[in-house]
Amino acid sequence: MKTYNIKPDMKEMSFGELSVVALGERGRGRWEEIIPCPLPERKLSTQPCWVHKESISSVVYKDGSVRKDPEGLQEDCDRCNPFDFENFLLEIGETRSGKPKLIKSTSSDGGWIARINTGKTYTRGTRGRASVFNPHSDNVKFLASGYGAFGQAGAIGKWNDYLIAVEQTPTVVRVAPSGGSHKSPRFWLVFLEDKVIKVSNEEVHIFLDQHPEIEDFTVVDQNEFKNKYTELKEKS
Ligand SMILES: [Zn+2]
Repeated sequence: MKTYNIKPDMKEMSFGELSVVALGERGRGRWEEIIPCPLPERKLSTQPCWVHKESISSVVYKDGSVRKDPEGLQEDCDRCNPFDFENFLLEIGETRSGKPKLIKSTSSDGGWIARINTGKTYTRGTRGRASVFNPHSDNVKFLASGYGAFGQAGAIGKWNDYLIAVEQTPTVVRVAPSGGSHKSPRFWLVFLEDKVIKVSNEEVHIFLDQHPEIEDFTVVDQNEFKNKYTELKEKS
């Protein structure tokens, strides 16, 4: 499967270091869900990054000529050899206790594995959320979620952080980042077969005109939104 916004971090666990996607945050009024996930391959470059360029060693020959050896190139430096997130393919696996984990793959078939993090800015009483356009709801499989917060125990706003699989396209997800629509404009994520497009409120009418194959997913008010969209969450 292809991936969208999956950027694993190294996390110190009680039993050692592990690469994971950590959804949400740890702490009071917060929930962190840890999904094991391998690191992507690196894009191998021949030039060291600007930091390691400083450490290039110079070899001076007898005739006075100088050769610069790119010894500064560090194999595991994220700038010398950055991770290749564009070609990062994964599949969904299961831990022994039945929780999702992400595993390496060589196939781009089967759709997208996507992380939708709605954390943006804070406003008391707001919560970042994402919702699926109802005609596409069968395309989306909820995998896991966590949430983070602003202020003590989340007193000034929260944000949801989702991991989903989008198994069919097109699929439209409405994202309402934390902070409320005045501070953090809502937008759509449109999952197509070979790319994911972030569509703003200003551009949506032009986008729809360019994509007559996609059903009109715009809404005029909150009531229509409630009828047309369903918040991402575990289906019970
Ligand atoms: Zn480097």
